[in-house]
Amino acid sequence: MAYDTDNIFARILRGEIPAKTIYEDDHALAFHDINPQAPIHVLVIPKGPYVSMDDFTANAPDALVTGFFRAVGHVARQLDLAEGGYRILANHGPDSHQEVPHLHIHIFGGRRLGPMLLKPEG
Ligand code: AMP
Repeated sequence: MAYDTDNIFARILRGEIPAKTIYEDDHALAFHDINPQAPIHVLVIPKGPYVSMDDFTANAPDALVTGFFRAVGHVARQLDLAEGGYRILANHGPDSHQEVPHLHIHIFGGRRLGPMLLKPEG
């Protein structure tokens, strides 16, 4: 899948759309999810044109991969989630229900999060 430079997170990175940013460095930007699914729900995105985890881990340079994952851990500590715990999640592709085609890692926390996945219906 080709990277869509007009996806909403690309526009946030370019400053065209506002976001509630909580952290930024050379490799990553972190901001609050617009529709939080937990008391704390933050998204961390890499500064580069990567559609998903698949694209990123296949094609991003080592420094960006390292810097991005260090930023995810940093943001969780910044949010005081390291002791109580948190969940990270990244959707890739249609089976995962990925909606925005720019890699993002969700960080959820602030309450007991329960079992890992919903059971399929039916
Ligand atoms: P996913 O289903 O993994 O692609 O998740 C996309 C996430 O992006 C959802 O949790 C949305 O609520 C969130 N989202 C969409 N637009 C925005 C936005 N403008 N600012 C912050 N979060 C957003």
